This record gives sequence, structure tokens and C-alpha cells, in this order.
Amino acid sequence: MIEMKNVYKKYQNGVVAANGIDVEIKQGEFVYVVGPSGAGKSTFIKMMYREERPSSGDIIVNGVNLATLKNKRVPLLRRQLGVVFQDFKLLPKLNVYENIAFALEVIEESPKVIRKRVTDVLELVGLKHKARMFPNELSGGEQQRVAIARSIVNNPKVVIADEPTGNLDPETSWEIMNIFEEINNRGTTIVMATHNKEIVNTVRHRVIAIEGGLIMRDELGGDYGYES
Ligand code: ADP
Ligand code: ADP
Repeated sequence: MIEMKNVYKKYQNGVVAANGIDVEIKQGEFVYVVGPSGAGKSTFIKMMYREERPSSGDIIVNGVNLATLKNKRVPLLRRQLGVVFQDFKLLPKLNVYENIAFALEVIEESPKVIRKRVTDVLELVGLKHKARMFPNELSGGEQQRVAIARSIVNNPKVVIADEPTGNLDPETSWEIMNIFEEINNRGTTIVMATHNKEIVNTVRHRVIAIEGGLIMRDELGGDYGYES
């Protein structure tokens, strides 16, 4: 499903953010990626959706090697992955419905299919009643729900999230976490970088701890393992 083999990443400034990463993530897993700031978590995650390319090594996602994937094929890859960010990245001039429908319009789905799928994901994240609102009219938690709905509207096999609760208060973070749980329960793989110790230690899943560009720990049902 997702496999990294001896992945090494050196940025142009000389920083080594991945220093020989080997990992395998199977379909349906829920994986937390933890570690101190600057450890290489974002780099690890960005390489999975080809936002960054490794300097060497192989990254295979859904059978495709991203290390050698041609740039023109990247949009095709992205359609098979959902990506959720800490800062939501919604389009401010589109309303909730349009932000989610956009992903389907670019692949020219029929209006009927679009309506059905957008309505279904809005229902899943509990925002059907806010379909006509704009991002700046929503709370942070609601904006993240929209971003999650957008990430799954294509029915991706994998959802990758980079600190999705990083800008949210504890209660809202739990609501967002519950949505990821629901998505995972439907069979979607979740890879989530997080600093949320309480969530990691309460809802147990596989924990991959990265430090200095290396996987220092990889445990099923592991704990967060850092002070904060
Ligand atoms: P984390 O997500 O764990 O905080 P990152 O993957 O963002 O870690 O960063 C790992 C290291 O790579 C850090 O030293 C960071 O400063 C560096 N880094 C990240 N992105 C870039 C970049 N685009 N150019 C140069 N260095 C970078
Ligand atoms: P939360 O407690 O989830 O952070 P808020 O207190 O930010 O929520 O918002 C509560 C409700 O008020 C939400 O349903 C949100 O949609 C609405 N709301 C917040 N800010 C605005 C705004 N600027 N314009 C319109 N509605 C807003």
C-alpha cells in the first residue's frame, strides 16, 4: 500500500530530513507519526503525496513508485489520496459545497454524481446544514470538517493528515479525531502526523516516532512517548 525503502532526503540547504527510512503501511491501518519539531515528520508525509521527492530510495504508493513518477502523473496520484492540513487550505471564495465539489468537477464527474457524493460526505462530517456558508463564516473545527470532507470525496484508499488538530482546541480536536476514526472504520488507511499526546495515548493505533530523519520507534498500539 505505502512502502518506503531506504529513503534519504537532503534539502538544498544541506539539511538531511530523512536518513534511510524503511517502512510499510498496509491498507486499512491507522498510523500516528510523532516526534519533536524538526524531526522530519512533515517531510516523511510530504514524500507520500509527492509534495517532496526523495534524494534517493523508493516510495511506493498504491503500486506506483513516486521516486520516478513523472510530474504529469502527479495529479492522477493525488486523486487517489486525500490530504488534510493543519491550516485547512480551503478556497475562500467558494462555499462549503463548492469547496468539496471542486475535486470532482476537475475530473468531470456528472452533476448527479457530484451532488450525491458531496451530500454524503457533508452528512458524514455533520455539516449538511452549512453547505452554503463560506470558510470565513465557520469555526476552525468546522473548516477542518470541510477539509476532511473534501479529502474523502474521491473515495481515496489513503488519507494523509499533517497535524490536523494543530490549530484546534482540545474538544474540537476530539470531534475531528472521531471523524478520522469513522473514516478508518470504513477501510481507509489514515496516516496522521500529530503532537496531540492525549489523543495518541487514548485512541491507540500504530505509532511511528521519527527523530533526526530516522524511525526510532514503530509500535502497534504504542504511546506518544514525549513530554509534549
Ligand atoms: P517536522 O515536521 O518533524 O517538524 P520537517 O520535515 O518539517 O520536520 O523538517 C525536518 C528538517 O528539514 C528540519 O530541520 C527543517 O528545518 C528542514 N526542512 C524542512 N523543509 C525544508 C525545506 N523546504 N528546505 C530546507 N530545509 C527544510
Ligand atoms: P467553535 O466553538 O466550534 O470553535 P465558534 O464559537 O467559533 O465555534 O462558532 C460557533 C458558531 O458560530 C459556528 O457554528 C460558526 O459557524 C458560527 N460562526 C463563527 N464565526 C462566524 C462568523 N464570522 N460569521 C458567521 N458565523 C460564524
